[in-house]
Amino acid sequence: MTKITPDQYRVFGNPIEHSRSPDIHHIFASKSQQIINYQKQLVAIDGFSAAVTDFIHQGGKGANVTVPFKEQALALADELTERASLAGAVNTLTFEEGKIFGDNTDGEGLVQDLLMHGVILKQSKILILGAGGAVRGVLLPMLAQNPNVITIANRTVSKAKALCRHFDDERLSACSFDETIGQKFDLIINATSASLSGDLPSIPASIITNEIICYDMVYGKNETAFIQWAKAQGAKQVIDGLGMLVGQAAVSFAIWRGITPNVKPVIEKLRATLNKT
Ligand code: NDP
Repeated sequence: MTKITPDQYRVFGNPIEHSRSPDIHHIFASKSQQIINYQKQLVAIDGFSAAVTDFIHQGGKGANVTVPFKEQALALADELTERASLAGAVNTLTFEEGKIFGDNTDGEGLVQDLLMHGVILKQSKILILGAGGAVRGVLLPMLAQNPNVITIANRTVSKAKALCRHFDDERLSACSFDETIGQKFDLIINATSASLSGDLPSIPASIITNEIICYDMVYGKNETAFIQWAKAQGAKQVIDGLGMLVGQAAVSFAIWRGITPNVKPVIEKLRATLNKT
């Protein structure tokens, strides 16, 4: 019997040890009868371009890119999707016909996770907390869901304003955390990194109603500070970012393999692993 050589994929980053991408992609592959080999690769801070070139010479088919190389991946790509170009960052590279194609699947991963949880985005009023790379990455796919408004509130308001100018869409506006007082939203997405250090963005408790859904892009073994706080204020539903992580991987997998994997069993498996650590 002929032995099939697996198609090769990588995730490049620094640090990379924590990455769950190889596990996620291998589960997608085994559930969809795809034969792939996906490895994580620690790349020297000044070695990204060389690492990608080496991998292409070895026959690599595609790669995910994580911190701190997403902007370098954008610069390296020969062709970009609109969402990657506007995000200013690439997390998915595809090597085909001698060219490097760059995409950004973070926003679609978030949108798919929200929809999977039954969140209605069309005509909704959305508050996004934070104005860093993650927000820039998700705005175009979020706007494509036809929300009524997306308000970006950030500790440094000038960064939120800069994002509004960059995307130039009348549904977008920027404000400080305090300026959210008295406003009514259907969904709040915490895209600050505050949860990583157990902190809360200083938004007023009064904006949490029993109708509101609160999403934290951060996830972990325990509920994040934001999720705990939102629950304590009586939010209708709380969701963490594990599904976004798996969702962005699923979109990358679909780009490479032409098959959209089922994310639910993978999210459940990762959740169970998190609970054991
Ligand atoms: P950046 O470093 O680019 O931006 C960080 C943002 O958090 C800034 O807006 C910053 O505000 C704000 N911030 C940091 N600390 C605080 C605080 N204590 N109070 C209020 N605001 C704070 O990070 P990213 O945008 O790349 O990522 C944001 C988060 O999203 C990270 O925690 C990351 O892990 C998570 N993420 C999750 C993904 C997933 O798949 N689940 C995918 C991508 C990101 P300021 O501008 O004022 O400094």
